Amino acid sequence: MIGGVSLSELAARVGQTPFYAYDRRLLRERVRMLRHVLPKEMKLHFAMKANPMPAVLGLMVGLVDGVDVASAGELKLALDAGADPKEISFAGPGKQASELRQAVAARVLINVESFRELPLLASISSDLGMPARVAVRVNPDFEIKGSGMKMGGGPKQFGVDAEKVPEYLQAIKKYGLTFEGFHLFAGSQNLRAKALCEAQEKSYELALRLAQHAPSSIRSLNLGGGFGIPYFPGELPLDLEPISVNLARLQARAKQDFPEAVLVIELGRYLVGEAGIYVARIIDKKISRNHVYLVADGGLHHHLSASGNFGQVIRKNYPVTIGSKVNHAVTERVSVVGPLCTPLDLLADQMDLPKAESGDLVVVFQSGAYGASASPQGFLSHPHCIEVLV
Ligand SMILES: *Cc1c(COP(=O)(O)O)cnc(C)c1O
Repeated sequence: MIGGVSLSELAARVGQTPFYAYDRRLLRERVRMLRHVLPKEMKLHFAMKANPMPAVLGLMVGLVDGVDVASAGELKLALDAGADPKEISFAGPGKQASELRQAVAARVLINVESFRELPLLASISSDLGMPARVAVRVNPDFEIKGSGMKMGGGPKQFGVDAEKVPEYLQAIKKYGLTFEGFHLFAGSQNLRAKALCEAQEKSYELALRLAQHAPSSIRSLNLGGGFGIPYFPGELPLDLEPISVNLARLQARAKQDFPEAVLVIELGRYLVGEAGIYVARIIDKKISRNHVYLVADGGLHHHLSASGNFGQVIRKNYPVTIGSKVNHAVTERVSVVGPLCTPLDLLADQMDLPKAESGDLVVVFQSGAYGASASPQGFLSHPHCIEVLV
């Protein structure tokens, strides 16, 4: 069942495979649960690169407080979806002049991460006669432990090295940009509450130190996110209890330290990842030297993450089942492969699955984040997949 509809009914309704299906109820529930965990003054943003499907984005815009975009294309989608420009922030290491111009014109908050952006924003701002709202994205002087993808600490293409931030703050003042605060994002896909709390704590302390150099008071302090979801055997869901306690403590401290600031947490994967499945149909069953291959009509070109080629070091299987036979007792050890002419096109490697035949539906769980939009859909010129919100 997804969104109260059985898989076979949904497949008939969609009319073709492969497809992604996202469950509205699970998306709503996830946000409701987080609201309960986060301090009530803290804002919850959706990092939309995790799932930019317009219907999902439209739903999320109505549930969260703001949207983080990473390109002018995402900015357009967020505005189309009805996001309040005041609550949109724009980050990314290679923002083009045209994108910065669109962002200033849209009055969104721009997370500065290169010196090049400062004079550019000043000239755009004077040209348009509109203020340029900026925050400094800080590349922290610490690393987060246990993150699947580190995006801060050491040398990075993201953000401004913490030690250079005072110089940027001076320049922001000199160029007459509207300074609003700091953005810190240490890393992604972290299942260790202790490491996340430590990163939040260190981010807060760093912001406190940097704020001494700020040209005006801090109005926005984005502490990042990085909350992970379990994908592989042995992984446990993130324990939110210590995070809840930690954020409540930081929010209380902020009342003293940053009286005008709104604290923000930005999440992508954690909001949408568990609410989506990918569905492909088995078109062939081949046996090669005692090894069973289920050949599906979808694979790596739609779901790079599940193939293990998006950030995994050692390939592990995503949770996969035969959706049309979940209650079948008989299992068979199989590999589920896609139609591409590359051995990388693998959805499940040697998994024990309900015994399947051509025509059955393969389901990949935990597929709501970094799926369709994070996959090389043009590779081998097969049809693109479709996405539905149920
Ligand atoms: C990608 C990204 C996110 C979202 O990361 P998730 O692991 O999906 O939560 C948040 N903030 C920034 C700056 C990002 O680049």
